[in-house]
Amino acid sequence: MNTLFNLDLLVRENVKALKPYSSARDEYVSSGEQMVFLDANENPFENGLNRYPDPHQRNLKQLISKVKQVEACQILVGNGSDEVLDLIFRAFCEPGKDNIITLPPTYGMYKVLSGINNIENREVLLTDKFQPNVDEILAATDENTKLLFLCTPNNPTGNSFDFEAIERLLFEFPGLVVVDEAYIDFATNGSWSFRLNDFPNLIVTQTLSKAFAMAGIRLGLCFASEEIIAVLKKIKPPYNVNELTQQKAFEALENYETVKEQVQTLLKERKRLSEAIATIPYIETIYDSDANFILIKVDDANKRYNQLLEKGIVIRNRSTQPLCENTLRLTVGTIEENDKLISTLKAL
Ligand SMILES: *Cc1c(COP(=O)(O)O)cnc(C)c1O
Repeated sequence: MNTLFNLDLLVRENVKALKPYSSARDEYVSSGEQMVFLDANENPFENGLNRYPDPHQRNLKQLISKVKQVEACQILVGNGSDEVLDLIFRAFCEPGKDNIITLPPTYGMYKVLSGINNIENREVLLTDKFQPNVDEILAATDENTKLLFLCTPNNPTGNSFDFEAIERLLFEFPGLVVVDEAYIDFATNGSWSFRLNDFPNLIVTQTLSKAFAMAGIRLGLCFASEEIIAVLKKIKPPYNVNELTQQKAFEALENYETVKEQVQTLLKERKRLSEAIATIPYIETIYDSDANFILIKVDDANKRYNQLLEKGIVIRNRSTQPLCENTLRLTVGTIEENDKLISTLKAL
């Protein structure tokens, strides 16, 4: 148990005072009986989408609960994890006063959201093995430090953070620890969502954008204590996840077996890709990956990036990130796409 943790001290004062907005769909909950709905100024002509979506996403959460083994009251869903992350900022960070800690090189959204929300972003670089520097992170905190973002597997480096480092941070960090598990389905280790009951300061985020092949519907998942979820629910827009997204997400989660098969294919392809490019002279390092992409260090990232672009292959140049000089990030594609990438890289 983290003895410094007190949720009440972390929630913004204005948020504490809020009551959740009660929409028409909240006030009357159908008992399954055939009712006449004249409460929400909807258009009555049925087309499958003329009604507002369930603001509590009950069916979807029930299935997420089953698939992810997290209680429904410990789940929040959002319009992509980006919305979930933004809600976390707005619930806990007082603009112009509070600060957060991020660990570059990492996912760019944390910094963007800190800027939008006017929250100081304290950056503590990862070690040269791309691991959290626990002592430096703890030293960077003060009484206004609200959030720590741990992206594991980390984007763009691809590695997972050490179990001991994360656990120590969960025990000793004074604010909330947000573990971004966007790539967890590709990782060898399990999710931190199984430790929610051990750590009241833990928030885990996941997404349907990567392993579930559903980036287009925008569905982000957030797992945390019932108390934290209740705070986030107070500030979420009532209909933040639209009906089409709820339906498609439900289908995707029902087909979890297909997702697992695709993940296995991508993992095989990741291995094949890194082995195939291992002997290319201008590739200096191929970093180990626990995700669906590989970070490589090359002789001249700008040059190689442009050469690939000329051949019709778009990758990501990560060179401007700290510790990532001359690195490129390659997403694992289909067998055919990877073949094209391999032969093109070899021919440069
Ligand atoms: C891709 C990615 C996400 C996904 O965000 P969505 O808004 O759910 O699409 C979240 N975190 C990280 C680290 C990512 O790389």
